[in-house]
Amino acid sequence: MIIFKKAGELSQYLGRQKDKGKKIGFVPTMGALHEGHLSLIDAARKENDLTVCSIFINPTQFNNPDDFRHYPVNLENDIRQLIGCGTDALFLPPTSEIYPKGFQPKHFELGALEQVLEGHFRPGHFQGVCQVVERLLDIIQPHRLYLGQKDFQQCMVIARLLKLTGKADNIQISIIPTRREPDGLAMSSRNLRLNEKERKNAVHIYKQLSHIKENIHSETLPALKQKAIEELQKQGFIVDYVEIANQDDLTPATSNSVPLVALAAASLGKVRLIDNLLLN
Ligand code: AMP
Repeated sequence: MIIFKKAGELSQYLGRQKDKGKKIGFVPTMGALHEGHLSLIDAARKENDLTVCSIFINPTQFNNPDDFRHYPVNLENDIRQLIGCGTDALFLPPTSEIYPKGFQPKHFELGALEQVLEGHFRPGHFQGVCQVVERLLDIIQPHRLYLGQKDFQQCMVIARLLKLTGKADNIQISIIPTRREPDGLAMSSRNLRLNEKERKNAVHIYKQLSHIKENIHSETLPALKQKAIEELQKQGFIVDYVEIANQDDLTPATSNSVPLVALAAASLGKVRLIDNLLLN
């Protein structure tokens, strides 16, 4: 695996590979890698000639400075895992390569997508995501981009970003299912910050989303949401939201006859967790 720290050097290298007809798959991450990340790398390896992963903890997408300061870092282990699963290139930029002096942040017109759920509870988060993803895509110019369903709303935001910036014709998005721990907890770098008791309780997010999925045709949507919120609170969570939304645009569902997704965000102690399940 070749490690690049300079954007220009990576672009040049990939340009040469593309000239030889190689297809590039790209997996952006913030590191502290787990099997969920590796499943994106696996998918990229199967469908492309070259797989590029980036590790960059993007400051502009953190609305909570404490979350940024304590974001887990595990670089040696990440590099070992990336080599182990056959990654061709790792982009490990310092902040100055992503946001060079004079960098002017753009505003992306994300519309209602930015007002709901994560957008509502994390003001500015998706603007930061778009800033970093646009920059990474300009540097790497991949054929395919691999994203996790775990961040369902982020996938929709990035699809919108590709349309807004005219990249949608050249870059195909692949969304990879959420990898879970044996008890059902969605794998997440932030799980590393849970203490033993919190880790045990964390599974209740998945349990409540599963309860919604199992009962979507037998109980009303408001009753399902309310029960999930109350159960999570009983387990010690501070709940930001439990929502049942239309898969197409994340507006709150009013009927269960169209494709729906249940999404939740809740904190245990200082750790905020998100998860979602497709319902029908
Ligand atoms: P992150 O490092 O958390 O920014 O995540 C990098 C990519 O990995 C994003 O596209 C995430 O959606 C994806 N990802 C994170 N957790 C999981 C998981 N448990 N299963 C599948 N993909 C994941």
